[in-house]
Amino acid sequence: MTAITEFVDLDRRGRIAVLTVNNPPVNALSHGVRLGLRDGLRQAVADPALGAIVIVCAGRTFIAGADITEFGKPPKEPGLHEVLGLIETSPKPVVAAVHGTALGGGLEVTLACHWRVGVRAARFGLPEVKLGLLPGAGGTQRLPRVVGVPKALQMIVSGDPIGGEEAQRLGLVDELVDGDLAAAGVAYAERVLAEQRPLRKIRDMDDKTGAVRGTPEVFAEFRKSVARQTRGFRAPENCIKAVEAAVALPFEEGLKRERELFLELMSSAESKAQRYIFFAEREAAKIPDVPPDTPTLTITKAAVLGAGTMGGGIAMNFASVGIPVTVVEVNREALDRGLGVVRKNYEATASKGRLTAADVEKRMGLIQGTTDFGAIADADIVIEAVFEEMPIKKEVFAKIDKLCKRDAVLATNTSTLDVNEIASATARPESVIGMHFFSPANVMRLLEVVRGAKTSKVAVATAMAVGRRIAKVPVCVGVCYGFVGNRMLHQRGREAEKLILEGALPQQVDKVLYDFGFPMGPFAMGDLAGLDVGWRIRKGRGVKSPVADRICELGRFGQKTGAGYFRYEKGDRTPRPDPEVEKLILEVAREQGIQRRAIPEQEILERLLYPMVNEGAKILEEKIAIRASDIDVIWIYGYGWPVYRGGPMFWADSIGLKAVRDRMREFGRRGAEGWEPATLLDRLVDGGKGFRDL
Ligand code: NAD
Repeated sequence: MTAITEFVDLDRRGRIAVLTVNNPPVNALSHGVRLGLRDGLRQAVADPALGAIVIVCAGRTFIAGADITEFGKPPKEPGLHEVLGLIETSPKPVVAAVHGTALGGGLEVTLACHWRVGVRAARFGLPEVKLGLLPGAGGTQRLPRVVGVPKALQMIVSGDPIGGEEAQRLGLVDELVDGDLAAAGVAYAERVLAEQRPLRKIRDMDDKTGAVRGTPEVFAEFRKSVARQTRGFRAPENCIKAVEAAVALPFEEGLKRERELFLELMSSAESKAQRYIFFAEREAAKIPDVPPDTPTLTITKAAVLGAGTMGGGIAMNFASVGIPVTVVEVNREALDRGLGVVRKNYEATASKGRLTAADVEKRMGLIQGTTDFGAIADADIVIEAVFEEMPIKKEVFAKIDKLCKRDAVLATNTSTLDVNEIASATARPESVIGMHFFSPANVMRLLEVVRGAKTSKVAVATAMAVGRRIAKVPVCVGVCYGFVGNRMLHQRGREAEKLILEGALPQQVDKVLYDFGFPMGPFAMGDLAGLDVGWRIRKGRGVKSPVADRICELGRFGQKTGAGYFRYEKGDRTPRPDPEVEKLILEVAREQGIQRRAIPEQEILERLLYPMVNEGAKILEEKIAIRASDIDVIWIYGYGWPVYRGGPMFWADSIGLKAVRDRMREFGRRGAEGWEPATLLDRLVDGGKGFRDL
């Protein structure tokens, strides 16, 4: 065995050279890997005793992509293109042997090889689109030549990987192998030599790309089929154009076109925002005073209290990853209703082909429904999702304090109540924490982990770890009304309500946010969530919201009653403008002596989003959020902020905080309340800085 570089070894097995990449944890294509592949290949080609080359990886996976720490730095030679060119033009056959995931540049390495073998469990994909990019090392040119244009489009534009068996069916893998992978690769290479197979270069293949030449409708149809999911993103269109080039142009020219389209994306605002969020999500896992080696409790059993809207979804999260969960309700009827909804949700997923009937039963089997609170005694974590009323929460926590084992984590899913006060109902406030899920809890990725004044580091670390295990994106926040997400949302809601009194209509306000990239605006969102929820909370707090209150008084609670700010036709969730609501808004405006005026879209946007940015600044000042990027992660994963705009704090930085503050002052001068810039915002503007500099 010869070490070519720190990360690549060359081993001679008879007449076959085995190049092994060993760059833990995921064999990223760092500079040392590229160098090792290039030099190892050169040595193998130059050695007359060697007839063929196998590329394989040590550790848990094949090359799983680019080295993200090299992003944004000046490129170091050799580039991936040069290495791939050497592989493809090698006079000796090169075989890739794949296990784990061959992603991005990793898959592109295999596509430059003449043959590919892989284990059944291997996965193959080009996920660059998820960072607002495209596979820039020939992936868009070679993949369609192998798997055909429709499949390549789907893989490149979705970024989702495929499994080994499908890869074999598509011709992406020549043989599925078992056992020692390097040995299997060597055996395959021996066969290639024995059969004297001519080198198979993907660049020279044309039957699959040729088959759709002159049929632009293939691309037109594909564009139509992804229009909804890709709205506002820049990368998907460039991916499609690159595949078009693979069909229309000779290989070398196609590569050039791919390069142009790649560079365009690399410098785009959209990709910058997407790459920022990629890192922000990883950063959110870090809590400065809770180091990664903080012990966490092992979670083998969970319990959820309440099987309502949230409880059922929360229980599903556990069952879906194989953790048994006990669901406790006050009576059999509520329990049956709640578990019935859970089953229906799983069955709906199964009917779309994303779960088997056996999976549904397995998951349902992991959910144990009961009305006996005693059943939570052996749970490692309890998540309370009962009615949002302090006396009930306190009673429940006092009760579970007596029942639960000593070191269990006691979590509340409260949205608006004080976690510290809830904790005070127990004799172990250090075990109490907020785990704020978002509706629908089985779908939404965000989890605000709310750290109380007395919450222990172990409880924080455990809640964060549990969050990740159930496939959420946990973000640690402090205690305040609404925590981070809803507190900022509240600011947006307040301005939305003012805007409709001053002259806009719900459909105009919603359109501005939809065009910005949100899946829906504040009024459609209210209708979806149910307007009665906020109404009840307002009544409890003695707060008024004239239009919203009046709409609720009419029994218009949103989609569930067929009418709210909008009206809905049976079985259709499309919000339709309602003249009755318009009349009501005009009436309230008149009563309040408001002179309505036409409000420009830009003003609507600024008035909805700048107060959120300002509230975000206050949240940072108060140390409710650890960092500005955590706030961005919260808005991306919990509220549908368009990822290609990077979150409210990133977005504000991209506009320039001075421009934001100047505009806020201007709105303030018009006499409206709530436009006082946060101290932090002032401080940053005065220092010529942004949130990114904190
Ligand atoms: P829900 O009314 O749909 O469900 C509450 C359930 O709790 C009911 O089924 C009720 O029977 C049960 N329950 C009441 N008292 C109980 C007790 N003592 N023991 C066991 N079960 C009891 O309410 P929801 O919307 O699921 O909200 C639950 C919690 O989640 C609240 O704290 C709420 O603020 C929070 N939350 C709700 C949302 C949302 O969008 N609905 C989002 C985030 C957080």
